Amino acid sequence: MVESKILISACLLGQPVRYDGAAKPALHPALSRWQAEGRLVAVCPELSGGFGVPRPPAEIAHGQSGQTVLEGKARVIEAGGGDVSALYIAGAEAALALAREHGCRFAILTDGSPSCGSVFIYDGTFQGRRHEGMGVTAALLRAHGVVVFAETGIDALEAQLS
Ligand code: SF4
Repeated sequence: MVESKILISACLLGQPVRYDGAAKPALHPALSRWQAEGRLVAVCPELSGGFGVPRPPAEIAHGQSGQTVLEGKARVIEAGGGDVSALYIAGAEAALALAREHGCRFAILTDGSPSCGSVFIYDGTFQGRRHEGMGVTAALLRAHGVVVFAETGIDALEAQLS
C-alpha cells in the first residue's frame, strides 16, 4: 500500500518564508522519517498567493476566522489596514490544489497564522491576542476533507497513521 502524503507548512521544514523572513522549524522524529520517505509536500500558501518575503504581518479582522473569509463575510487585513483577503484565498486554493495533486489526506500547518492556523489565530488587533479559530488555508482544506493538525499535533497524527 502506498502511504498517504502529508501537506506541510514550508516554514515548519525550515524554509525562511514567514512574513519576517524567518522559519519556524519543527523538530520531531516523525517529520524526519516522513521526509526521508518522501511523504512530505511543502507549501507556503502566502507565497503561492503572490506575496514575497518579507511582507507585512496580517490578521483576520474583528475576531473572525478563515471560514468567514472564504464566505466573503470577513477580511484579512495587513497591519497598515490594506485588505489582502483575495491573496489569502488564492493561496488557500493553491494549497488545496497541491494537496489534491499529491493525494494528501493529512496536513500539518503552522498554528497562529492567518493562513495556516488550525487551533488558534490572532484577532485582528495586532496586539498579540489569540482566539480559537482557523486560518484561510486550514479552513479550505478542512472543508474539502483534509485532516489538519497543528505542529503541536504531530504526535496525534503519528498515532493516527500507525
Ligand atoms: Fe508558514 Fe503558512 Fe505562513 Fe507560509 S503561510 S510562512 S507556510 S505559516
